[in-house]
Amino acid sequence: MTDHSSLHLLIGGEKLSGGGRQTQDVIDPATADVLGTLPHATSDDLDAALANADKGFHAWRRESADKRAAALNKAASLIRERAKDIGTLLTKEQGKPVREAVGEVIYCAMLFEFYAAECKRTYGRTLVRPEGQSARVVYVPVGPVAGFAAWNFPAINVARKVGGAIAAGCSVIVKPSEETPAAGLALVQCLLDGGVPGDVCQVVFGVPDDVSRHLLGSPIIRKVTFTGSSAVGKHLVKLAADDLKVTTMELGGHGPVMVFKDSDVDQVLDTMVAAKFRNAGQVCVSPTRFLIEEDIFPAFRDGFVERAKAITVGNGFDDDTKMGPMANERGPAGLAKKIADAKEKGAKVETGGERIGNQGFFFEPTVLSEVPTNAEIMNEEPFGPVALINPMAGADAMIEEANRLPYGLAAYAWTNDPKLRSRLAADVEAGMLAINGANVSAPDAPFGGVKWSGFGREDGEEGVMHCMVPKTIHEG
Ligand code: NAD
Repeated sequence: MTDHSSLHLLIGGEKLSGGGRQTQDVIDPATADVLGTLPHATSDDLDAALANADKGFHAWRRESADKRAAALNKAASLIRERAKDIGTLLTKEQGKPVREAVGEVIYCAMLFEFYAAECKRTYGRTLVRPEGQSARVVYVPVGPVAGFAAWNFPAINVARKVGGAIAAGCSVIVKPSEETPAAGLALVQCLLDGGVPGDVCQVVFGVPDDVSRHLLGSPIIRKVTFTGSSAVGKHLVKLAADDLKVTTMELGGHGPVMVFKDSDVDQVLDTMVAAKFRNAGQVCVSPTRFLIEEDIFPAFRDGFVERAKAITVGNGFDDDTKMGPMANERGPAGLAKKIADAKEKGAKVETGGERIGNQGFFFEPTVLSEVPTNAEIMNEEPFGPVALINPMAGADAMIEEANRLPYGLAAYAWTNDPKLRSRLAADVEAGMLAINGANVSAPDAPFGGVKWSGFGREDGEEGVMHCMVPKTIHEG
């Protein structure tokens, strides 16, 4: 299996490295040691990948849904068999506890299984016409897809880019993050070993902006799908606009959590503290702005701080580690800067706030309270292990604050009041809302945002349909 000593490109089913290609080091975030060397695709490599994707698409789109489903199901069973090994690679390069990493890999198998079934359900419809005429709508694959995945979920992000495309009958060139390449490579290898042709699913690496400009500059690519920051998403949408390519953007968030006074505070804390510090807070749907009804604010804040202090931070391979390092050296530096700004503007640091040690990229589980709205951290995604906890006057103020930002990915609310739950469902601007829970992701549920959090969806039937376009056939 792929490991960090044999990193490569996957072009036309061939593993390519060396050959004078430029390289970059892949770093272990727990130690800052070099794990391996990653080759960058040359311009000729990218052209070869594009030509393969074109050829692969024209063959794959003609395959039956049964054949596509069989390949996805076989890949899923290989992923399950290799989950421990892939999870180990993932923890090495990304840092999260290995238990979380293996869970992430298993999710990819579940997603492929769901897509395998879903690709048989890409139904069209028949329109009502007078006798002697007919009109029907069929769904056809959009064309070759370019996918760009981020480093926070090295397996799931890649699975989401390639799974829907392959199910729909598209070919796909994916660029996992150069910082976390091995898990994505291992996942795509399962697809190839499962029967997906080498020109249908390919993997490239390089300088992100160079690779995306090259691929988006080609008329062969008909759809672009990206996971990452809103800033890069806007840039890619502009590039895609030049050739009117279809886009799916899974961008940043700033998850509001509205906790109303009828909630069981301990139950909320047990669920939401774990959700906050999962993957060291580097999650696009991470709960971040905790908006707590005034009566329960002191108990909520104190309970949160107590639980945050009890979290064991360490190497993802240690059994008692609950939170690993941040994934790259930009993480701790960026977070420390945002915390300093919040402190200066009057926020209270209840616990944490500092980098841990001088080896790797560890950061303390951090809680800030009474954070003013003008602090940078209340407006920009902190993408790290920090909770912002503020007292709020009631539902109107909480919903207004939840909707204040241009982001709208995941939102959370805790209340047992049915009227309030209906109001939240109607008024909170988010792609996903969890009421009395923390889970916003499942293979059968569309995942994505509104406003600056993006558009298009991955997972769910939408994950396949957003790689297809309707074609209407009129017969007179
Ligand atoms: P970034 O926005 O530059 O990179 C995010 C991802 O996008 C990386 O995997 C990178 O390889 C890729 N990327 C960057 N420029 C690209 C381009 N021109 N074409 C194609 N891919 C490109 O910065 P970062 O420092 O890695 O992260 C900064 C912020 O991005 C984070 O703090 C967070 O707010 C956000 N982010 C969001 C998600 C998410 O799940 N939505 C994931 C990662 C990062």
